Amino acid sequence: MAWDSIRGHDGPRSQLAQAVQAGRLAHAYLFVGPEGIGKHRFATELAKTVLCEASPGPMRACDRCPACIQVQAHTHPDCFSVRRAEDKNELDVDTMREFCHRLALKSTRGSRKVGIVEEADEFNVNSANSFLKPLEEPPAGSLLILLATSLERQLPTILSRCQVVHFSPLTPEDVRAVLLAHGVQDPQRLNHLVRLSGGSPGRALALHEESFWSFRQTLLEALTAPRPDAVGLAATWIKFAEEAGKQGPAQRRRTVLAIGMLIELLQTALRVAFGNDAEAPDPMNAPEAERLRPFAERLGVDSIADNLEACLEAERQIERYLQIGLVLEGLLNKLFPLPVPQRSR
Ligand SMILES: [Zn+2]
Repeated sequence: MAWDSIRGHDGPRSQLAQAVQAGRLAHAYLFVGPEGIGKHRFATELAKTVLCEASPGPMRACDRCPACIQVQAHTHPDCFSVRRAEDKNELDVDTMREFCHRLALKSTRGSRKVGIVEEADEFNVNSANSFLKPLEEPPAGSLLILLATSLERQLPTILSRCQVVHFSPLTPEDVRAVLLAHGVQDPQRLNHLVRLSGGSPGRALALHEESFWSFRQTLLEALTAPRPDAVGLAATWIKFAEEAGKQGPAQRRRTVLAIGMLIELLQTALRVAFGNDAEAPDPMNAPEAERLRPFAERLGVDSIADNLEACLEAERQIERYLQIGLVLEGLLNKLFPLPVPQRSR
């Protein structure tokens, strides 16, 4: 892996190259952009660039010296990262204190150190406060890189002490190239994943798991069933989320990815309802669009749009740590309301 293997992100790269060339690298950067687009890989390359012992030139790393190899293998003693404990929703104060302690120690291999905070969205007030001093005046020679998904989720105290670098979703071509490099070959699956990715190869790769596709089939069957069973589907979905493991964050992530699949199905239905399914981005998907036609025609454009909004709201609720079961029951009751008694025909 090297700078050349990073797809997209030309803007951040030139922003940091200018700083490196001018000898004005800030001591703390906040990398902001959606999950799974390569911010961590980018941070690793920057760490290598800072710690490389072969000095191959500004904004370059040799990828061969012991320092480069150790950074790549996550074993470099002067390059370390922190993330929340698996069962925690937040970066807690003890975890951050330990990170700050490591940062304060003398560097082992040279004069520089790189500390990466992987989930800067998840500071709480206490852990953020414990980090303010090192963030404002880090030990000499150290570089801090904080990874975040949105500016809105940052505490002002953190935000004001970092230089912000914005990362954008990748183009469909770049996502496709990353997926091919990861061995995704089936053309239909590839098209599908690119569309579901929203520019995030990480998201696409997470969805390239068979269980998601059988769950997607369950969603499609519910949307096309004459009498969908909202209660049964909620139970199936909760079970599917729980299969991600015991930890809340893993279950929430799986739930949000599955909501993304539901959104994609509803978008297809919306195109059908608009009557422009011929312009579908993936012509191979035509049979599915046809299957969704009765649902699309029964609901119409406005109701499908309302359902899409309900999905987005459910995503936000999951991210705000509302209980998964409650959110899914609310969403599915909205999507599949009990039928109103009809006049007999
Ligand atoms: Zn090197």
